Amino acid sequence: MLPYSEQGKFNSLSPEPDRSTELDYFFSHAYHDMRFFLEVTTQASSVVYTYFGDLQRNLFYISDNLRDTFGFSNNVVEDLPGKWREHIFGEKWKQLYNRDRQNILKTKSDTHDLRYQVVDKDGKISWIHCYGRVQWNPEKTSPIFIAGRLIKQDDFFSVDSLTNFLTEQTLHRRLDTLRKHNYYCVTIGFSLNHIAEINTKFGRSLGDRLIENISNALTENFCGRMSFYCLPGFRYMALVDNEVKDSCSKLVSDIRKVIEESYRQMDLSVDRPCSFAVVNFSQHDNDSKNFVENMTSLVKLSEQDYTADFLVNSQENMDKIRRQANLKIAIAKDVFNGMQNFKAFIQPIVSAKTGRITAGETLMRWEYNGSDVSPGVFIPILERDRMIHIAGRWILEQAVQACATIVKYIPDFSLSVNVSLHQLTDHMLTDHLSELLERYHLDGHHLIIEITESSMIQHPEKLQALIDNCNKRGVQVALDDFGTGYSSLQTFLSYRTNIVKIDRSLLLEISKSSCRTNFMGSIISACHQLGQAVCIEGVETEEQKALSLLAGCDYIQGFYFYRPSALNVVYDIVKHQAQTANTC
Ligand code: C2E
Ligand code: CA
Ligand code: CA
Repeated sequence: MLPYSEQGKFNSLSPEPDRSTELDYFFSHAYHDMRFFLEVTTQASSVVYTYFGDLQRNLFYISDNLRDTFGFSNNVVEDLPGKWREHIFGEKWKQLYNRDRQNILKTKSDTHDLRYQVVDKDGKISWIHCYGRVQWNPEKTSPIFIAGRLIKQDDFFSVDSLTNFLTEQTLHRRLDTLRKHNYYCVTIGFSLNHIAEINTKFGRSLGDRLIENISNALTENFCGRMSFYCLPGFRYMALVDNEVKDSCSKLVSDIRKVIEESYRQMDLSVDRPCSFAVVNFSQHDNDSKNFVENMTSLVKLSEQDYTADFLVNSQENMDKIRRQANLKIAIAKDVFNGMQNFKAFIQPIVSAKTGRITAGETLMRWEYNGSDVSPGVFIPILERDRMIHIAGRWILEQAVQACATIVKYIPDFSLSVNVSLHQLTDHMLTDHLSELLERYHLDGHHLIIEITESSMIQHPEKLQALIDNCNKRGVQVALDDFGTGYSSLQTFLSYRTNIVKIDRSLLLEISKSSCRTNFMGSIISACHQLGQAVCIEGVETEEQKALSLLAGCDYIQGFYFYRPSALNVVYDIVKHQAQTANTC
């Protein structure tokens, strides 16, 4: 119905019609026959079924098509909610229906809004969207009247079978309709994080159960207040009903609580189970597809942004999305062109005892539009799009080749390479490693594979297989960034790596504390007792160097000694060191 103004003119700009004023106006000015109206609207031949009834007497009136399709003997039905339950298909939907009824009474809600499957009198199963409004007595102690409709969805809706949320195509149609009527609407996009990892680690059925529990809980908690739609890749969008007056922060926090509780109930302790974006939809959003794409990009950005509760479509965020999209295209082009514009750098690492270079870390560099992009930016892009498999094998080859050159000058030299969590799924990695060692005649013990704590938590079996394969080839393994993760001591102890690299942030933290050397010393001596060598990363000052030496570490890496440099620069440095060793 179009909004109606006092002057009796249709006012298409006002987004919210005052229905009771309009009805009062109509009933007091125009002839009407409610019985005739009902007879017409409840006749057969429609995909919309109608019902209404007295909730105190439990007596209902149903439309002809509802009566005929579902085999009711009469339009007047006693206990329709009870009888209707028998037409709901499967225990899952029956339980959802029951919970919704209990919820309406408990929360004194005035809407009933559910989608589920039903079986008609011929045994045909179809999806149905049931929408009803409940009228309560003035004291709000008893529900007195219900009226509603059931819409058969197969014809113009489609529903995702796992979540029972509407599909993306339906979302486009819904947004188109909202735009046509100049409606304004708050939309909340969100992602369920770590589902792919949960599927890999515990099996797809557990991942599915988690999603199902979350979607049931969301439907139960927010039914009538918002409707949910599926977006690609475990991402979803909620359209908030205009009647809801809560702030966006409150809505996001409510949804977050429901999702986090579902992860907790299934004993899945993960970092940030969900990420959010909030965008207002208005008639100015001409292209629904574009709107949904922007929302998806914003949710993706929010998955990487740990600073805000939710992101909005500010100019700054839109610029970031555009920049990331451009970077992604440029990286893909370079990766598939034989790692064009990528370079391997090495940061020399010194022995704490001698101050001389005995090791190094290989670090990837990528140049875009004439300047270097930080690995903190391009590595996650490579990881997200699985390009890290190609890039990872490439950097491994650069490292083996460079190491074979350096050991000619420093025979006890070892070089490390970072292996990201996402590379653990690269089945060819270890074969590639063996092949490289053979091709460049390098003994495995000169190579170190660096892994982070997050790999230990998320892919324990794959990580164990990689460690076993490295051990077989004599390749060493280092635990990188120790002191930054949220993993327990137990995970640390489960994998005995050859080397532990203490992160710069722990060094900075300890530098501030009064009992600093004692604490660092205790960590290092614990590692030594377990047969692990220790490298302290990020040493920039004389004081930090002194602290590291006092604490008893074995290796020091940091700008105080050497910055990461191009291979030819590093070759010159090691040549020089070898020459000074010979002349001493
Ligand atoms: P990371 O593995 O912890 O690498 C050490 C980082 O610390 C490097 O940053 C290095 O430049 C920096 N660093 C070394 N000494 C100091 C210091 O004294 N002060 C400060 N402030 N920083 C220091 P970079 O090269 O920017 O790399 C950042 C991260 O990107 C790396 O952290 C690693 O996680 C990732 N990365 C770099 N190259 C690769 C690669 O080839 N493969 C994978 N999977 N990840 C890589
Ligand atoms: Ca590293
Ligand atoms: Ca590190």
